[in-house]
Amino acid sequence: MQIPRELQFGYRRFRQEAFADHAQRYRELAKGQTPRTMVIACADSRVDPSAIFSAAPGELFVVRNVAALVPPYEETGTYHGTSAALEFAVEELKVARIVVLGHGQCGGIAASLAAADKRPVGRFIGPWVGLLSDVRDTLIERADTCHPAHRQKALERIAVQQSLHNLTTFPFIGRAMQQRRLRLHGAWFSIAEAELHWLDWDSGVFEPVETREAAHV
Ligand SMILES: [Zn+2]
Repeated sequence: MQIPRELQFGYRRFRQEAFADHAQRYRELAKGQTPRTMVIACADSRVDPSAIFSAAPGELFVVRNVAALVPPYEETGTYHGTSAALEFAVEELKVARIVVLGHGQCGGIAASLAAADKRPVGRFIGPWVGLLSDVRDTLIERADTCHPAHRQKALERIAVQQSLHNLTTFPFIGRAMQQRRLRLHGAWFSIAEAELHWLDWDSGVFEPVETREAAHV
């Protein structure tokens, strides 16, 4: 058997613990999935949507790519992995919400900033993070003197907002929103504090999500 030991150990634990706890659920899920939430997250190993939202199997429909980006709608092109997942989630699964989840220390966002300095960022990463070039250049112009870490964090959040905007360019998403059966959300996760920040649409500010239950009087 060629399976690496660490993966086999993990799989065994999954069978003994998580699967044992959810065996009935898996049998039910084999008949079909009805997740209410789609999450678009970064491929980064430190930002796992299922862990952050304590989601059971079948609860989250997750797409992960470099920097959690959504491209704008395009009539042409062939390999639209993220767009295909969006179409399936909205048209077939009829999810009620899409969450774009950015995060701190994002390598994809760092690549976008590196590309602005004409540093090489990779054959495929370059064009992909090029989706952010316009908003990145605006940010750099506006905040030319600010500390690189602040600039990175600012772009991580702007990228979420850009992806939210790009979501609205998909006709089937616009339609679902008009029919009030789909809502869009933006979030940003701080790795060191494992703290989730949620975008307030009115203020445009990402605010820490309260973790203590509200006191009842
Ligand atoms: Zn990332």
